[in-house]
Amino acid sequence: MSVFDHREFAEHEQVSFYHDKATGLKAIIAVHNTNLGPGLGGCRMWNYANSEEALTDVLRLSRGMTYKAAMAGLEQGGGKAVIFGDPRKDKTSDMMREMGHFVDTLKGNYITAEDSGIAVSDIILMSENTKHVSGTFSKYSFDGNVADGNPAPATAYGVFVGIKAAVKHVYQSDLQGKKVAIKGVGHVGIRLAEHLYNAGAKLYVADIFPGGVNQAVAEFGAIQVNVDQIDFLDVDVFAPCALGNAINHQNIDHLKARIIAGAANNQLACDEIGVKLASNGILYAPDYVINAGGIIDIYHQRSDSNVDKLREHLNQIGETLQTIFVEADESGLATAKVADSLAELKFK
Ligand code: NAD
Repeated sequence: MSVFDHREFAEHEQVSFYHDKATGLKAIIAVHNTNLGPGLGGCRMWNYANSEEALTDVLRLSRGMTYKAAMAGLEQGGGKAVIFGDPRKDKTSDMMREMGHFVDTLKGNYITAEDSGIAVSDIILMSENTKHVSGTFSKYSFDGNVADGNPAPATAYGVFVGIKAAVKHVYQSDLQGKKVAIKGVGHVGIRLAEHLYNAGAKLYVADIFPGGVNQAVAEFGAIQVNVDQIDFLDVDVFAPCALGNAINHQNIDHLKARIIAGAANNQLACDEIGVKLASNGILYAPDYVINAGGIIDIYHQRSDSNVDKLREHLNQIGETLQTIFVEADESGLATAKVADSLAELKFK
């Protein structure tokens, strides 16, 4: 399929494909829009079934980054990278170094960072061959843990702030006693679990790997749930924190949560799902608004800022969501649609 005719093309400025025989690196970088600044967005490594799936993923993610940066008030555009392969089996140091070469060919039009399957150590390897990386160091620790450049702590805090705003909007209450289901207990999911636990929420967790689930059960009193049941739990909040398409035609009519609010990018399988959520009376916190903490963190780490300014910026995620929720109530439009219109006013 031609890239220009792809259903997710969405006026991308640049899409680059790369293959390196020696290291086995196969990757795509997509830069959606640079009107506000260079395309900033993470690099994901995933065992894609085929190149069509990878292309669809990178185009959707890259577009989402443009909207995310604009809504977060940053002078950044949107871009994203994907690497084909299983990060647990196929990743090598030389492959990561080669990815740095690929990033460098875009001459700063794209700045990379961590995403699912890519760790700080991988970005450091990429940085041997390009200066267009972020998330390799932190000037300050955001949450008291080791400040290693990983934006996940800030992302998790932003999602927590967003969940609080959504709960306040729907229930006029705080999180004490609220039931939250987290699907995907990785870098963001586990930290989100900690915030929610400290705020008095009751947690339900599921993941395809046991590490994060075991930790959430042991440390935060979470209840382990089967991956194929977590979507349908009778909870107050469903927080998708794995990969995209969390809300789709298969599960939408069986969701019991009144709020969908999580870290994953591209949570809605298509725009129609957003409209359906609204008509089913489910409040959706648009993904790129609630999960902007990572990009906000990177922005602050790269500029002359400090942890207080970062926290203040992250707290604005709650206020932005509140604006979207109220406007959606008043207009009858889906929250996703309201968010898109507000973002487009900023970057178009
Ligand atoms: P991660 O890879 O550390 O965690 C994802 C977790 O989801 C993993 O534990 C994985 O095993 C699990 N998972 C994958 N498929 C699953 C499935 N079908 N069911 C249940 N669990 C499944 O990634 P992360 O950094 O925690 O990011 C999580 C999501 O948030 C991703 O969609 C990412 O794009 C998005 N996000 C992350 C950041 C960040 O700062 N890390 C920022 C913005 C958005």
